[in-house]
Amino acid sequence: MSLPSCPHCNKTSISWWQKYKAAKWALIHCKQCKGHACSLPYLLVFYTMLYVWNVMLFGYLTYVTGNLWYLLTLVVIWVILDLYSVYLPLSAIKTKKPPQQN
Ligand SMILES: [Zn+2]
Repeated sequence: MSLPSCPHCNKTSISWWQKYKAAKWALIHCKQCKGHACSLPYLLVFYTMLYVWNVMLFGYLTYVTGNLWYLLTLVVIWVILDLYSVYLPLSAIKTKKPPQQN
């Protein structure tokens, strides 16, 4: 499995750990081109809603019924979401160029 590539320079300069953290709303700083990247924001909002849905539904069912299988289901879905979060596509963050001085 090769390393993820930077959306700016397309070099494999981003680690899987950085990509995992990007799925938790962290920014990525490319070591090669010094560019900034993040996970695709709209997809990240949807993905975060899946985490919230998982905790609210199965947490509620565990609380109401007292059945620990719902808690186990919550943990399993959480782990699956975490594993697939490294496959969220990255988006380049464009910075403003410094003003030209004459
Ligand atoms: Zn780069």
